[in-house]
Amino acid sequence: MVNNLDRSIEEKDRSSPSVIGHRPGRFWVGCSDSHVSFFELATNPSGLVHSNPGNLALSSDISFLASLKMAIDTYGVSEIIVCGHYGCRSVEAAASGIREEIIGDWLIPVKALAGKYPGLPTAADKPRPITDKLAEMNVVEQTINVSQTSIVRDAWASGRQLSIVGMIFDPVSGSLNRIGEPISSMTTP
Ligand SMILES: [Zn+2]
Repeated sequence: MVNNLDRSIEEKDRSSPSVIGHRPGRFWVGCSDSHVSFFELATNPSGLVHSNPGNLALSSDISFLASLKMAIDTYGVSEIIVCGHYGCRSVEAAASGIREEIIGDWLIPVKALAGKYPGLPTAADKPRPITDKLAEMNVVEQTINVSQTSIVRDAWASGRQLSIVGMIFDPVSGSLNRIGEPISSMTTP
């Protein structure tokens, strides 16, 4: 699996330079219970990694905001990647309506997303458990969250080239795939 993932990242580097082309210049937001963030650190040691349960990018999370600010202003990253994964226990916990203190509170945005789309459909061409579909939707939601921060908007307003990319890791196949379209301007409200 390690080799598969490593190959997958290398293939992305070769085939999609717009996604992972500038090795030192990306900021990775991943999930705490996914090994993919560690591989990202290993393959891109000069980049920045921020992880938490459910790979959330919340404007109420000062740790995330501080990391984002440093990534953009200090490191001058040109890409921000939000990476979720299939089989995510945080997403599964949110889908089950977990109420335990702290983690239950932390996952409120994912629980809200699950409640927003009850009976989430699975993709016909790639059947997945509903929680995996929720993991994909959560990635898209978090990329939008990143795009709406004043830190990113100020960067765009100053003329900076900055793309926000959603990705999903499949621990079974070891593949890493893009979810949704990259956001590179103030196209969201
Ligand atoms: Zn996870």
